[in-house]
Amino acid sequence: MSAYSARVELEPTGLDADLNELEQAMQLSARRFAKKVMRPVGQQLDHLPAAAVIAADSSLWQVFAEFAKLGINLTDLLQLPAAERARLKALIFEELGYGDGGLAVVLGAAMVPSIVLHLMGRTDLIERYADKPIGCWGITEPDHGSDMLDSSGHTRHPAVGHGRLNCHARIQGDRIVVNGQKSAWISNGPIAQICILYCGYDDGTGEDKRCVLLVPLDLPGVSRGAPLDKMGQRALPQSELFFDNVSLPLDHLVAAPEDYVRAEQGVLAEANALMGTIWTGAARAAYEHAYEYAHERKQGGVPIIQHQNVRHRLFHMFARVEAARALSRRVVMFNEVAPQPALQGSIASKITVTQTAFDVASQAIQMFGGNGVTREYPVEKLLRDARSSMIEDGCNEMLAIKGGTLISRI
Ligand SMILES: Cc1cc2nc3c(=O)[nH]c(=O)nc-3n(C[C@H](O)[C@H](O)[C@H](O)COP(=O)(O)OP(=O)(O)OC[C@H]3O[C@@H](n4cnc5c(N)ncnc54)[C@H](O)[C@@H]3O)c2cc1C
Repeated sequence: MSAYSARVELEPTGLDADLNELEQAMQLSARRFAKKVMRPVGQQLDHLPAAAVIAADSSLWQVFAEFAKLGINLTDLLQLPAAERARLKALIFEELGYGDGGLAVVLGAAMVPSIVLHLMGRTDLIERYADKPIGCWGITEPDHGSDMLDSSGHTRHPAVGHGRLNCHARIQGDRIVVNGQKSAWISNGPIAQICILYCGYDDGTGEDKRCVLLVPLDLPGVSRGAPLDKMGQRALPQSELFFDNVSLPLDHLVAAPEDYVRAEQGVLAEANALMGTIWTGAARAAYEHAYEYAHERKQGGVPIIQHQNVRHRLFHMFARVEAARALSRRVVMFNEVAPQPALQGSIASKITVTQTAFDVASQAIQMFGGNGVTREYPVEKLLRDARSSMIEDGCNEMLAIKGGTLISRI
């Protein structure tokens, strides 16, 4: 008869019972990287002005170099059977988010061009630009934010038109010429080597048509804005991208107007699902800090964990992290294994988990008392980072409206 223990000790990722050897090893090496590299670098970059984050001597570059050594890349993941790939993806991105949410987005955004090229069957371009591993996703514009994630117009105000996009491509002979700009929100904008660009397609008809292009960012006519200064995810460099008669070969057209909706829904399904895993990790970090602090902080002669209400609050944080993890992993699994990803699932994961990360970070601050709001302790940064995630890759309320149209039968 096996011994019964009233108290089960859990690993940092809680109720993980069925990880195979490879998964355990990958989880562990991603966690080591998260704790040893991402967390200290993220905390250091958080204190720097935006321009210093991308300076030649910035420790941001150490994150890329050390991440490369882990050997985690999309091409290798794609060799695996779908279910195995899904499990590894969810485990790894959770660990990256556990290390630092902003830096996890840096690494995730770098992969977005490859993700879209794979989705659209353009592995030739992945191979051609294999020497340019830092990518970005350019879709948001100065005059078009939430609406850019819903070209089918479900969330558009019925009384008004959409307005002309700020960035357009035009076919000229055997070239594609790009003019215009993308907004200051382009993650990795100041440092990216390639951009997967979602823009207007100007065929002279005046109709609202769109396309997707791969744009190497060292081409003549490309320029970038100053790095954006913001409240959270300060390690994530962001800036505008400007295109002045940027000329590309025709084969850099990744999605023509008739394929645009597939490319839009595909990238959003992938990005929102990965956001679910990343911010599960950030929520877990906040819970863990609060848990440790509750054992260490002595007040009124006892560690605060001895108060029933403190245990009760920690328990609810634990429960929310587990729920976030269950949803985010389930969505990644569905999207990899099913014939087509379910965007409504990805949206559900993104909005649920980012709200969880924000709430758990806020509860962690409360657990730290006055120390929680000082920059001496790690939890106020987690709150600032999580706050941005509720807007990033789509404002949560706008995504919910889109999700509602996707689940509706009429
Ligand atoms: C940290 C971070 C990283 C990002 N990374 C990228 C990136 O890599 N690439 C990229 O292209 N973009 C990126 N973005 C941009 C992001 O996707 C947009 O900020 C987001 O889509 C919202 O657009 P907006 O900021 O223009 O807000 P707006 O669309 O102007 O929305 C402002 C407010 O109006 C509300 N609203 C708008 N339309 C409606 C409607 N129809 N009905 C009801 N309410 C409405 C919104 O809910 C919101 O509260 C990033 C943003 C952040 C914060």
